[in-house]
Amino acid sequence: MVDYSLFGKRLCGGSGIEELMDDLGHALATGGPDTKMLGGGQPGSIPEMNAIWRERLQEILDEPGAMEKVLCNYDPPRGNPKFLSSVAQMFREKFGWNITEKNLAITPGGQSAFFFIFNALAGRFEDGRRKKILLPLVPEYIGYANQSVGADFFKAYKPKIEKLGDHQFKYRVDFDALEVTEEISAICVSRPTNPSGNVLTDNEMAKLAKLAKENGVPLIIDNAYGAPFPNIFFADANPLFDDNTILTLSLSKIGLPGTRTGIVIAPEEIASAIASMSAIVDLANNNVGQAIMEPLVRSGKILELSNEVVRPFYLEKSKQAQGWVSEFFEDTLPYRYHVSEGALFLWMWFEDMPITARELYERLKARNVLVVPGNYFFFGLGDDEWRHRRECIRVTYTMDEGTVRDGIRIIAEEVQKAYVEK
Ligand code: PLP
Repeated sequence: MVDYSLFGKRLCGGSGIEELMDDLGHALATGGPDTKMLGGGQPGSIPEMNAIWRERLQEILDEPGAMEKVLCNYDPPRGNPKFLSSVAQMFREKFGWNITEKNLAITPGGQSAFFFIFNALAGRFEDGRRKKILLPLVPEYIGYANQSVGADFFKAYKPKIEKLGDHQFKYRVDFDALEVTEEISAICVSRPTNPSGNVLTDNEMAKLAKLAKENGVPLIIDNAYGAPFPNIFFADANPLFDDNTILTLSLSKIGLPGTRTGIVIAPEEIASAIASMSAIVDLANNNVGQAIMEPLVRSGKILELSNEVVRPFYLEKSKQAQGWVSEFFEDTLPYRYHVSEGALFLWMWFEDMPITARELYERLKARNVLVVPGNYFFFGLGDDEWRHRRECIRVTYTMDEGTVRDGIRIIAEEVQKAYVEK
């Protein structure tokens, strides 16, 4: 048996989410053509966007020397200089942000950006102190949960839950509970949030930005779904960026997850630290996504595509999914879903359901419907007894209409059965 280091023990021994993803993967592989995969984070396949990628790849092949430049070279660790220059220019010119290439760093996806940022800012310090990342509101992105190479480093807070009408709700940051103590080294939110589709309001963001500044810690904003691209953002709210923000973007949800491209916009010192980490961990980043995207960023076409193709595609998917929920769930059932303000998911809450979300997941899997039980998204809390964390599921609505419709119909049937058994 391998004698793992502490780092190895934390990262090599599997995790709850790995088990679940493995289970989902096997169920999908062995479940036959009827399997309804509403469990992944896979973006939808958008024909217009795929046509753009094909066109861009063809242009790279047709331009003498372009393919060789992309495939046959290492870029500097910070990212492709031409791409960085276009990104900085776009944010300066179109959004008035005071940034240069020195504020940017490319990573192998947003996922790696978080691994770098969290572990650089939190964990054990030279003088023995331990620092944590404050999550003002959970449920929060499951992909953060196991990223620490040392001891657990999240301090999370329960949200306030505002019930809206008979069947919806919205999470709010509980500012009365939040405490930015000495042990906090950064505040982090995803906006829109995976899993809930919540978009923290402008007011909540302004308060968090103020709290972060007053306490001398950065505010990390995970913009994987946000504006200006991919702009899977339906709420009436604005993006936030200032000189105390670390903002992460990604090319995944606009349609290029296979290129593994994350973009970090941060104070110069932090951007430079990320480039240093990239050099050690990766040498250089994958440059295919950057090459495909560079002219679209330079011309601003990426903004047009996000607004006119990507956002409407997902907005329509979200509305359809909500329509099917209303159609298939009995009005008398105490079901609710979070207001859908962005991202790719409906986050459903079954208050006082007699079975746990994990049991519901198993029953749905037996009927070839795959969802994610919500308990995994409530890490860093400490309070295992809070019922709400066992009463939610995440339903991805990016698949084809038939799959999502049938999936929601079966979820409604199983939830109905679970309540009737009481
Ligand atoms: N952040 C959030 C909120 C996500 O949902 C995801 C992926 O699902 C990521 C970050 C990481 O995405 P990627 O590494 O593909 O950029």
